Amino acid sequence: MASFIYCGIDVEAFLGFVPCLASPEGSVPAYPARSSIPLPTRISPEQTMGDERLDVLELDQRGCESLAQRFGAKPFHGRNLFKWVHKHAVDDFDAMTDLPKSLRERLNAQAYVGKLGVASEQPSADGTIKWLLELPDGQRVETVFIPEERRSTLCVSSQVGCALDCAFCATARQGFNRNLTSGEILAQVRHAVQRIGKAPSNVVLMGMGEPLANFDAVVLATEVMQHDLAYMLSKYRVTLSTSGIVPNIRRLTEVSDVSLAVSLHAPDNRLRDELVPINRKYPLEELIPACRAYLRGDSRRRITWEYVMLDGVNDSLAQAKALIRLLEGTPSKVNLIPFNPFAGSGFRTSPQEQVEAFRQRLLRSGLVATTRKTRGDEIAAACGQLVGRVENRRRMVVPPTPATGGVVVRA
Ligand code: SAH
Repeated sequence: MASFIYCGIDVEAFLGFVPCLASPEGSVPAYPARSSIPLPTRISPEQTMGDERLDVLELDQRGCESLAQRFGAKPFHGRNLFKWVHKHAVDDFDAMTDLPKSLRERLNAQAYVGKLGVASEQPSADGTIKWLLELPDGQRVETVFIPEERRSTLCVSSQVGCALDCAFCATARQGFNRNLTSGEILAQVRHAVQRIGKAPSNVVLMGMGEPLANFDAVVLATEVMQHDLAYMLSKYRVTLSTSGIVPNIRRLTEVSDVSLAVSLHAPDNRLRDELVPINRKYPLEELIPACRAYLRGDSRRRITWEYVMLDGVNDSLAQAKALIRLLEGTPSKVNLIPFNPFAGSGFRTSPQEQVEAFRQRLLRSGLVATTRKTRGDEIAAACGQLVGRVENRRRMVVPPTPATGGVVVRA
């Protein structure tokens, strides 16, 4: 039987998997293959939330159309379903008034709209809200809403934990647990929409995890974020932050146009090897050209380089100069991030004057450079420091080296 893959799910296999959903004639409308990305062929039992019903959040527009047809309705009913679920954030199929009753009945019996539990909600005085959201298998991820005067940003997680072991990152201390499905990534957006009452103007994949290590689910979720019938976010308003998995930056170049932020944090390989260990595999001489290629010569776009300011480690003016040289010829914006300290990190935040002197040095060279405002300080909600309840499941000791300025990286 041919496979038809929508939003990472082999709908045919899935529907076949649920006996009552399998069509006797086994026919599903043939849509063209969406992209060349190798997609997972079927939803796994964990992803079905121990429930044999289908989570419609795992489906893109075409998947919803296919599902509607399978349930005896028209493709446009599937489009409406997709719109109800994402644009209107409606959970209850019976409230989707323009769907035929028979379709609503089938949906009620055999599908559901995935929802995340709220383990905690921490509002901050500046309006920032951090949620600890619970996945169906009890794992928890953090999602942060950051309102500003004219815009709002939602920071979402792409994995439970992270395998990349960046020296200054709290999530790294948790180790890696599992990838989120595209539906679980989108469920974080829906949660915020339902809680805030409107869609955020920007979404950044800067929460827990390395988005490019969960490539298919992340690409599919960002497509839905950009979809006209869903969240309608432009390519400038969906930002994927990566530590620099070079082959996947190249793959992304072929299939996506979201904005790219890269966790640089050091101007040379010696220091970056220590701070962002994936650099040992994909050093700067591979990373920078791959990022430049991502821009595809579009003069309106640039790479955002994230640079966490660590006192005495990467914040000297000589390092600012080295950074300027490194980024020469690449349309860039440097975002200096004050380090968010956490217990046992072994790092200190650069003094504010040092951050400003570093920034001024970059500006003098013509680089665009900003300093990230710290938000939600008292709830440890800044993106990239989604500490949650970090358990030191895996403690590591990296001895101080000249490259880390003699700082104890892990204690
Ligand atoms: N894995 C992705 C996205 C996760 S974190 C990445 O590496 O880009 C988003 C940003 O926050 C990254 O630049 C990350 O390096 C940074 N970050 C992590 N821990 C931090 C901390 N304690 N203080 C400040 N920034 C931190």
